[in-house]
Amino acid sequence: MPTPKNHKPPHKPKLKQIAIYGKGGIGKSTTTSNLSAALADLGYKVMQFGCDPKADSTNTLRDGSYIPTILDLLREKGRVDAHDAIFEGYNGIYCVEAGGPSPGVGCAGRGIITAVQLLKQQNVYEELDLDYVIYDVLGDVVCGGFAVPIREGIARHVFTVSSSDFMAIYAANNLFRGIQKYSNSGGALLGGVIANSVSGGYQKAIIDDFVSQTNTQVLQYVPRSITVTQSELGGKTTIEAAPDSEQAQIYRELAKRVEAHEESVVPKPLDAQELRAWATGWSDQILAVERGDVRSAGAHI
Ligand code: ADP
Ligand code: MG
Repeated sequence: MPTPKNHKPPHKPKLKQIAIYGKGGIGKSTTTSNLSAALADLGYKVMQFGCDPKADSTNTLRDGSYIPTILDLLREKGRVDAHDAIFEGYNGIYCVEAGGPSPGVGCAGRGIITAVQLLKQQNVYEELDLDYVIYDVLGDVVCGGFAVPIREGIARHVFTVSSSDFMAIYAANNLFRGIQKYSNSGGALLGGVIANSVSGGYQKAIIDDFVSQTNTQVLQYVPRSITVTQSELGGKTTIEAAPDSEQAQIYRELAKRVEAHEESVVPKPLDAQELRAWATGWSDQILAVERGDVRSAGAHI
């Protein structure tokens, strides 16, 4: 169909929906909260949507205080007005926690499905005129619920937080499989890896090699920093507690990269055998350097 000369798209959605995945304890919530804070400082309207049954995603945006989760509210009241589940955080960030079933009972993934549906049915994203919704999602794509932000086309871009530790890379590789699986049916695609606790040397070489093997990229290297620890103990993001620090500058760079990011891709996960062979290769290289057999493990170290 020819496009009329002065055609304007009827509604160009500005809302960017992003999901952050990664192994438990790898730094998803820390990174996500600092990213949200940096995007809010750039003037964007941001919602951070915690999708971990621990419900601890947003507390550093709220002076260390925890909010009731959507599932808590549903259990209490039976019916929930979405506005009762949205709490204001640093610089106007909208904070939501999906929550989970009582520990040891039921499917944690269901909480995500229920929570996302509740906000969508009540048209909250449009009403709040959001620029970003950032889903902070637990671990691997272990069950259907955790795949919701990818599978249902809710998030368009997925970023994974990983260090150079094998288990973190293993979880990232599993996530890539999930993304690949749903990519034919309108699922989210991969924007890249946020390399957390990666400073240089082997750590950088390992993660660089992994992304090049799997058809993705490192969006940002984030070093381990005592400023993060200190800010978290004070119940705040680094952006809020130490805005002049080097670490805050790194989170602001991350936000700029997320802002500029347009094209995500289908990753090429390694199969079980390839991943094992890849890991063994690195193990041998590190051993050889430690023994002094070779001076350095690879030209880029
Ligand atoms: P996740 O959400 O992936 O489970 P968290 O974001 O809660 O992980 O981080 C786990 C712990 O690691 C937190 O105590 C956090 O302060 C710490 N942490 C994460 N990233 C860094 C970093 N770059 N420097 C220092 N500490 C970090
Ligand atoms: Mg977390």
